Amino acid sequence: MIKKFLKRVFRKSVKTKAVGNAQVIPFELHGVSSDHISYGALKVTEGLQAAGYQAYVVGGAVRDLLLDRTPKDFDIATDATPEEVRRLFRRSRIIGRRFQLVHVMFGEEVVEVSTFRRMIEAEDAQTDEHGRLLRDNEFGDQEQDAARRDFTANALFYDPATQEIYDYHGGYADTRNHLLRIIGDPLVRYREDPVRMLRAVRLSAKLGIKLDAATAAPIAEMKSLLDNVPQARLLDEVLKMLLSGHSVECIQHLRQMNLHHGLLPLLDVILEQPMGEKFIMLALRNTDERISQDKTVSPAFLFAALLWHEVLAAWNLRVQRGERPVGAMHEAMDDVLARQKKQLAIPHRQDAVMKEIWLMQQRFEQRAGQRPFRLLEQPRFRAGFDFLLLRCASGEVDDQLGLWWDEFQDASAERRAEMLQPEGAGDKKRRWRKPRKKPDASMADGSAVPAGEPST
Ligand code: ATP
Ligand code: MG
Repeated sequence: MIKKFLKRVFRKSVKTKAVGNAQVIPFELHGVSSDHISYGALKVTEGLQAAGYQAYVVGGAVRDLLLDRTPKDFDIATDATPEEVRRLFRRSRIIGRRFQLVHVMFGEEVVEVSTFRRMIEAEDAQTDEHGRLLRDNEFGDQEQDAARRDFTANALFYDPATQEIYDYHGGYADTRNHLLRIIGDPLVRYREDPVRMLRAVRLSAKLGIKLDAATAAPIAEMKSLLDNVPQARLLDEVLKMLLSGHSVECIQHLRQMNLHHGLLPLLDVILEQPMGEKFIMLALRNTDERISQDKTVSPAFLFAALLWHEVLAAWNLRVQRGERPVGAMHEAMDDVLARQKKQLAIPHRQDAVMKEIWLMQQRFEQRAGQRPFRLLEQPRFRAGFDFLLLRCASGEVDDQLGLWWDEFQDASAERRAEMLQPEGAGDKKRRWRKPRKKPDASMADGSAVPAGEPST
């Protein structure tokens, strides 16, 4: 108590000093010790400074430390060129073509080093017809580097040697006040790079801090600018949201700001189906939990979850029209993936896994003969089973099915034999016909049969 009080009084008496246009905040005021800087980041700043260059920890790491959070990684900004950085560190390589960065490796840790950049003056800037910056890769100084960053909280430079923070845009006060504020005129900054609108939502959700009113206000009217952003970048940002460990908050904020339309267009439809919304929210919550426990999450699993109710709806429609269940499932999957791809470039390499997860869902229904054993041998059984559990939890399928598979997986041979359902129970004895379309890889073993469709 007394210590806290003294600390506060003491802090009040400590002043920041101005160096050029920066406010320099001493350790006594901000309290972030260099003990919190990773081994690799310390080595890089020390190495660069010893060679006569400037070097600071910058961006998300400084912000996170001020908010008492553990940074995901440490980025370094320096006045050394990428080539100069590379020459200083044996285990390093230059990456990127348009704007070069250097990755310096220390065991598992990769420290990203970028050379100070500047925003290109309006008359020289290359923008598209909507004002989006196409080129921003000129080297600059520290002050210019601060100005080209997105939010004031992301533009703080921390020097581990002196434990001082350099602040050009009031980011220290904003962070302390739990405010996320864009640097400069929000209209201009969103036009330059519409993805900043999504970053605003993601960072405020992830950090649990408020978006400054002027930063939030123009988003509603400017969101259509997201249509001009290359697909791959949008996908990157959506993935960052989904894998941020705070996906539930991110989606909620996106919906509040009506920003989800251009991103996951099918999300609107899905979220309006009561079952779909429950399922997706469960999947997201589950992902957030896995991340907080340092478990891996697969983007394919997430996308499979996001699109599941679309697949189900498309499948139902086809089955009602008289199509055979397996064929209908293949068509439904292709329909949904094709539709989604127009808006969100889910990479093709995810398709195979998503389809495997979806196809397994039909196979979970079959609990007679050899089929459950074959399903257990699927390399992605675990993902398929986790998916099934989500379906149970959302009320889409009976809990009993999940419980059955939960027990069956680890049961003894005798118990498994007891658990198997009688062959043909509930099945119509029909010959399994090959779907007209060439089956894809996930069907290659020919064992993917729909509920009630015996495979012989
Ligand atoms: P995270 O914790 O998610 O990594 P971050 O702020 O570190 O958050 P990065 O994508 O790693 O996000 O970016 C590093 C830094 O680069 C940011 O802190 C910001 O200063 C700057 N930056 C990133 N994206 C933009 C952008 N679109 N416009 C301007 N500056 C950006
Ligand atoms: Mg980062």
